Amino acid sequence: MIAVIGAGPAGLMAAEVLARAGNSVTVYDRMPSVGRKLLMAGRGGLNLTHSEPLETLLRRYGVGAARLAPAIGDFPPTALRAWAEELGQSLFIGSSGRVFPQAMKASPLLRAWLRRLGDLGVRLALRQRWTGFGGDDARSLLFEGHEPVAAAGVVLALGGASWPRLGSDGGWTSALQDRGIAVAALEPSNCGLNIDWTEMFRQRFAGTPLKAVAFQWQGQVSRGDAVITSYGIEGGAVYTLSSAIRAAGGAEGAVPVTLDLRPDMPEPVVAEKIARVRGSDSLSTGLRRVLSLAPAAINLLREVERVPPRHPTALAALVKAVPLRVTGTQGLDRAISSSGGVCWAEVDERFMLRRLPGVFVAGEMLDWDAPTGGYLLQASLATGAAAGHGMLDWLRTG
Ligand SMILES: Cc1cc2nc3c(=O)[nH]c(=O)nc-3n(C[C@H](O)[C@H](O)[C@H](O)COP(=O)(O)OP(=O)(O)OC[C@H]3O[C@@H](n4cnc5c(N)ncnc54)[C@H](O)[C@@H]3O)c2cc1C
Repeated sequence: MIAVIGAGPAGLMAAEVLARAGNSVTVYDRMPSVGRKLLMAGRGGLNLTHSEPLETLLRRYGVGAARLAPAIGDFPPTALRAWAEELGQSLFIGSSGRVFPQAMKASPLLRAWLRRLGDLGVRLALRQRWTGFGGDDARSLLFEGHEPVAAAGVVLALGGASWPRLGSDGGWTSALQDRGIAVAALEPSNCGLNIDWTEMFRQRFAGTPLKAVAFQWQGQVSRGDAVITSYGIEGGAVYTLSSAIRAAGGAEGAVPVTLDLRPDMPEPVVAEKIARVRGSDSLSTGLRRVLSLAPAAINLLREVERVPPRHPTALAALVKAVPLRVTGTQGLDRAISSSGGVCWAEVDERFMLRRLPGVFVAGEMLDWDAPTGGYLLQASLATGAAAGHGMLDWLRTG
């Protein structure tokens, strides 16, 4: 029996590869049901991958790109899309190039996938928390409150540490560190920014989107959509910046981030349009009419400057660079993903742990990071497939 521990996208993909080759596979998970984070990702529409060229896509993984490239090369976005379509999901490419299922949720895909895995004979063993290896043998597996399990091979796909209540809590790190395996600290990645809104602004606008805006911090610009939240602001455009702010250790003290409410329009053009606001118009009516700004955006100007300037040049400068006082970044509890994980030096090209022959590693528990945009699921699924193929090779050749 081959044990796959972790029933997220990486583990289930490894199980599919191994079971297709005729192996008996059991997938273990500590939760009462599988794929909880995948289902949560479905709440945001389930951005499966990205349609940009492969070389561009690989660059999104930064320093992890070199080690991920073979796995993603073998299971590229085209293969991922074909796989999802075989599971009955028709897909579409959004205006940003991101790939989504038409259903805009994960449950139909997960249901079809579990049916397929069941047909391949994959068994699920739920509510089993893996706590480490028994004795010297890395293929003797310990699960809390259960008898040790002997496996012919093991795939660890235990995820990172974000949204721990969905199952991946990073509790596996000590079991690997006890075996001398280096694990880089799991830190929040792709997370929201904390801003102390006034009570009035928070109550009125929490949950309101800011469409097609741009955030800037220390010369880095991140364009896209964001959502005002009770704690500050979140969304794709913010996540890219949050990782940079964290990496720079900038979450301590207030960080000056600016927000461009009309990034597609040069400042003089914004000023020209503001000059057309009629004297009889209120600020809200005027800005809505000449710049098509939404109420949340207009009130954001009032939030940062109680009485925004009426002079076109000064007001245009504010619209193009709303100063936001970021007091920190959200923690692991609410981060989309985590950086850190099993260090690449510990893993060979088959995704096997060098110190523990027969034990393979896949998914977000490896030390790579990427922005949102479908890159997280792309790499999780691709490394799951690679670990499965790596184990098949090892079973054949040792
Ligand atoms: C809110 C949210 C939205 C997201 N949206 C997207 C998106 O649209 N596109 C995208 O690409 N990515 C998205 N992601 C990220 C994506 O879901 C993850 O990167 C991906 O699920 C990681 O897959 P994985 O299989 O490596 O780990 P996981 O999905 O985390 O699965 C790991 C599994 O291991 C189990 N486990 C952990 N420890 C143990 C243990 N000790 N014993 C037994 N079982 C254990 C867990 O219960 C879990 O089921 C989103 C994440 C969040 C939180």
